Amino acid sequence: MNYSIDSGMYPLGSCTMKYNPRICEEISSWDKFSCTHPFQDYSTIQGNLQILFELERMVCDLTGMDYFCLQPAAGAHGEFLGLLLTRVYHESKGESHRTEVILPDTAHGTNPASAAMAGYKINEIPSNTEGTVDLDILEKTLTNNTACFMLTNPNTLGIFESDILEISKMVHKAGALLYYDGANMNAIMGEARPGDMGFDIVHLNLHKTFSTPHGGGGPGSGPVGVNIKLEKFLPIPRIGKKKDGTYIFDYDAPESIGKIKGFYGNFSVLLKAYIYITLMGKDGLKEASEIAVLNSNYMKQKILESGKYKMTYKPLRKHEFVISCEKLKQEKGITAKDIAKRLLDHGLHPPTVYFPMIVMEALMIEPTETESKEDLDRYIDALIKIADEDPEIVKNSPINTSVKRVDEVGATKNPILTWNMI
Ligand SMILES: *Cc1c(COP(=O)(O)O)cnc(C)c1O
Repeated sequence: MNYSIDSGMYPLGSCTMKYNPRICEEISSWDKFSCTHPFQDYSTIQGNLQILFELERMVCDLTGMDYFCLQPAAGAHGEFLGLLLTRVYHESKGESHRTEVILPDTAHGTNPASAAMAGYKINEIPSNTEGTVDLDILEKTLTNNTACFMLTNPNTLGIFESDILEISKMVHKAGALLYYDGANMNAIMGEARPGDMGFDIVHLNLHKTFSTPHGGGGPGSGPVGVNIKLEKFLPIPRIGKKKDGTYIFDYDAPESIGKIKGFYGNFSVLLKAYIYITLMGKDGLKEASEIAVLNSNYMKQKILESGKYKMTYKPLRKHEFVISCEKLKQEKGITAKDIAKRLLDHGLHPPTVYFPMIVMEALMIEPTETESKEDLDRYIDALIKIADEDPEIVKNSPINTSVKRVDEVGATKNPILTWNMI
């Protein structure tokens, strides 16, 4: 009764559910790594520290940032760190009046949540008719009180913000910082770098793009990269390398914001990213992104050609795309949720639904590079078939699963997380 990324497609938009090479799992479970004790003296864990040191250089290279902190345990944790760095940066310049964070209405929910947790006021701006940042509105919204503008590129509609250099110029002219939500890095690895686009702070989701199974609350990793002007504020310890080649935990950073995580991040996830990046190489990562984008556009095109679903914004997509079930809702009363449930009957995992919120009855599909054309075709066929099925069947789905429609509110408010097998 289990379904996993190994048994079939798992096209949860924004989540980058892709096949994770087994070798990453195997190596990271070796005793030499898994039995390292967090209180061990640094002289006995030189290999581990070397991996962290080198991984930091690898992700700097990939993103165009100057320095990285590998400690945050998730994307949202990375965002929180990035915003704390934003705050000390402005304070250090005597600009603590910058208390506002701007973000587009396509932003992932964690962006405003992290900004609020870091004590910021949130100012959400509407996207233009192309589904991208509206430069006029951004310009008018940027003030002397703006601390930073948070953006993901490509955005959550899967559209590349091609005005990014102009956006960067505007944000910096206003004295604010530009924050990159790097959870969508799977679209641009080896093709484009946030550092080159003018971003000051970047977080990556290693558990999405760089080979760690995720979902269900397993360990994650959301490293944060910065450019040189923010370096001195990064959390301690940093991973240092002495002249004699010894790796150390470096606590010598008087202006650091301090600790952000116990010990040093989720080492096994960092290790898997290190293995994955080494395994793929620069060219391999680039190719992975190219295939992810190709798969996404292939699916988008086929689904649109069927005429059953609509897309609000037209341009070419990157790693993901968002279609709307509004037409089906109007004509047959079938909602995005019904489609998602019916996909279960076809043996397929549903896509992300109802996000981003600016698309009505949204299905957000991210096929990733590790799916074959046969699997993409199967998914496309299922979506088209469901649109033509008897609406009553679709509305009462799933019917082939052991559990039918569940009480989702109840499951959230009163979760029972154990199951007695007898
Ligand atoms: C997943 C995601 C995040 C948050 O990452 P977590 O590791 O789940 O905290 C932030 N932004 C975007 C665009 C994402 O897809």
